[in-house]
Amino acid sequence: MKNLLRQIPKVDEIIRHKTWSELTSYYPENILKTSLRSSLEELRKDILTGKITSIPSIEKIIEKVESLSKMEVSPNLKRVINATGVIIHTNLGRSILPESAVDAIKHAASYYTNLEYDLEKGTRGSRYNHCIKIIKKLTGAQDALVVNNNAGAVLLVLNTIAEGREVIISRGELIEIGGSFRIPDVMKKSGAILKEVGTTNRTYIEDYEKAISSATGLFMKAHTSNYVIKGFTKQIGTEELVSLGKKYGLPTYLDAGSGLMFPFIKGSNTDEPCIVDEIKKGIDIISFSGDKLLGATQAGIIIGKKSFIEACKSNPLTRALRPDKLTLAGLESTLILYLDEKRAMESIPTLKMIKENQTIIKNRARLLSNKLKKLTLPLYVETVPTESEIGGGSFPDFKLPSYAIAIKPIGTSIDTFEKRLRSLDVPIIARIEKERLIFDVRTILKRDEVDFIRGIIEAASNINQ
Ligand SMILES: *Cc1c(COP(=O)(O)O)cnc(C)c1O
Repeated sequence: MKNLLRQIPKVDEIIRHKTWSELTSYYPENILKTSLRSSLEELRKDILTGKITSIPSIEKIIEKVESLSKMEVSPNLKRVINATGVIIHTNLGRSILPESAVDAIKHAASYYTNLEYDLEKGTRGSRYNHCIKIIKKLTGAQDALVVNNNAGAVLLVLNTIAEGREVIISRGELIEIGGSFRIPDVMKKSGAILKEVGTTNRTYIEDYEKAISSATGLFMKAHTSNYVIKGFTKQIGTEELVSLGKKYGLPTYLDAGSGLMFPFIKGSNTDEPCIVDEIKKGIDIISFSGDKLLGATQAGIIIGKKSFIEACKSNPLTRALRPDKLTLAGLESTLILYLDEKRAMESIPTLKMIKENQTIIKNRARLLSNKLKKLTLPLYVETVPTESEIGGGSFPDFKLPSYAIAIKPIGTSIDTFEKRLRSLDVPIIARIEKERLIFDVRTILKRDEVDFIRGIIEAASNINQ
């Protein structure tokens, strides 16, 4: 053992090796040195534990250094293949952007822009002016404000309109969405005082009315975006709340969540609020996300009566929540697509995936399955019907019939195989169901297919080792 330890090449010797100098043009020197140190340490450990009985060549050691260094310099945020069938998957980055939005983002990133410059006057402009015209046009709202995300929008609205005052909201709408966003907590941080009324399953307009006092500052509704209350239930509609607000001179606010612009899912029988309809009902303020059903960049969009939007704009919090130029570029070009409903449905990936024709999905699933079957990998492969979800806090409890490739590995456990898929260069994220891996084709992009097949092959090779 001692003999082996003594045979480990010296650092100088490795650094002088000709393949080392090739590495130095790709990787920073300090990264290489750290990787070298860890490689040698590991080697020493392997000798001491008897794991290896001969010293690897210098080339082999340098190869190891390279793979460690590569990990150090490659970004942690990377592309994955979403085979979960959840279209707006919050853990996988929510919406994929339309091509025009990607182009706009690239453009805004590589050139100077008029982000805060008024080209007409030749003076300082405001970043809050971008997107406003088109949002007003699409929603019919008097005015709008774009912030960093909808959680920020909720905080800003509550702080601006109801700081130190009571906000009346139904107990059935005290939502928690992922990432520890809870209405009661955000309310507290905003400085507004939560005044919950009714019960979890039933709240009447009288409950709101009875709760009004001189301390009341706002009526709020929040879309129950990730659950449904079924059975003996009653929540009041936006119209009822608006008329109560008018009667008492109190503002009304809807946190709509997802940003549905037109009711494109026929017969879905869900109460996903359509932004345009809600504004027509006369509500004072609505806020919603940019990267959920709207299918654009992460943003919080606040629309409504001009006086309230102006008040939000002059709140110092707005500066802390401001969107960056890439957000605005992506959002604006996505919104432009909405000017034509047909074009929006075809070119906004989130909408297109929801509306995708089942036969197309089935055919793609079959083609991919057949390709895999022909490769005679140690896998049972078949095409199966499955159900996709819209996800991202929209259409809770609503499923879209879809097709998937079901795979059962032979000679290894399903968990090991699933883990292998996650550690690929382009990880594949699937779900386990009844001892099989289910790859829902609805969310596998057409341009993912080559890497999908490649990934399955790689994960299935040397499966018994
Ligand atoms: C998603 C959601 C939010 C938070 O929006 P983000 O864009 O994720 O910040 C707030 N309210 C509701 C009802 C939501 O569904």
